[in-house]
Amino acid sequence: MHPFTYTGLPARVVFGQGTISQLPDEVAALGISRALVLTTPGQAKQGHQVSDLLAGVSAGVFSEAAMHTPSDVTDAAMAAFADRNADGIVSIGGGSTIGLGKAIALRNDAPQVVVPTSYAGSEMTPILGQTENGKKTTQRTLRVLPETVIYDVDFTLTLPAQMTFTSGMNAIAHAVEALYAEQTNPVLSMMAEDGIAKMVDALNRVQAAPQDIGVRSDALYGAWLCAVCLGSGGIALHHKLCHVLGGSFGLPHAETHTIVLPHALAYNAPVIPQAMDALKRATGTATPAGALYDIARNGGVPTALRDIGMPQDGIDRAIAFTLENPYFNPRALERNALTELLTNAWHGTRPE
Ligand code: NAD
Repeated sequence: MHPFTYTGLPARVVFGQGTISQLPDEVAALGISRALVLTTPGQAKQGHQVSDLLAGVSAGVFSEAAMHTPSDVTDAAMAAFADRNADGIVSIGGGSTIGLGKAIALRNDAPQVVVPTSYAGSEMTPILGQTENGKKTTQRTLRVLPETVIYDVDFTLTLPAQMTFTSGMNAIAHAVEALYAEQTNPVLSMMAEDGIAKMVDALNRVQAAPQDIGVRSDALYGAWLCAVCLGSGGIALHHKLCHVLGGSFGLPHAETHTIVLPHALAYNAPVIPQAMDALKRATGTATPAGALYDIARNGGVPTALRDIGMPQDGIDRAIAFTLENPYFNPRALERNALTELLTNAWHGTRPE
């Protein structure tokens, strides 16, 4: 018997195709009478579509969401929120847009309805990362957890091919670490295994059929399960390395996850037999780390840190930062083994 603690987070989830039509009802159910619609500049068109659907309940579109939730963008969004007498938020987009909605909610506790369009998973977590004066800080508070999430597969059909893979691998990473994190428990492990299986299967089929609703809905469903793992579970070495590489070397979020995951998994593999059994079932292979690497390579996305701007002489520094303030990890952090891990990730060597 393994004792465990499980924390479920409150969230209402509407899942399907065409579910955006339920947005006005979901907004009303939260008591929102004027919703500010948030997007990035690139998704402003989708924002206006959603704003039109809300008709008189829309407080217009704020389309300046940006990577890493810069505080000046949040300030501008807060001003728009006040000027337009908004009392709620509708975020439509990936992790950057959802981050902006969370940053507003942190400041004024506005209710949020989120329509995720990538697989990054921020919608299911009480986590917010913000950047001020070039410094990113992350906090965990239920105040930023979105109240309602509408997954509408139609909005994922426009996800570019490369981002489909990197964002999908980002999702898988959340679930992989939930299998062996300190807070691991059988309920999350069940979600993690199914989430990974759905996403792996979808990524293996999506190139041939990027507009297939069945494939895209498997990916989105998998992304949801993986997001629950990030929100309620724990993280370990993989996420630590990605935070160091993103924070100290400015490497892009989803690409970094994609490259590091197979190597971080290979590092931990010898000490996580139960998690490896789950991953063998989920990937349908005897070598899950290699299988994850193959998905990225077959998807045509970067598999080497050197290809996304990591300097080779930064490896030692990255390891020093990792060891300075380590996260829990099932295998002890050994400098030489970590150097081998990051060197392999830098070259893009396929792990077993
Ligand atoms: P993103 O939100 O930055 O999106 C990248 C680009 O893709 C943007 O221009 C966006 O508008 C566009 N895009 C997104 N979905 C699209 C679609 N369906 N069609 C066309 N274009 C689309 O990238 P992301 O990977 O979703 O999120 C990454 C950010 O989210 C990072 O800053 C990361 O730190 C954060 N994040 C936070 C959490 C959390 O729990 N707080 C979890 C995961 C990621």
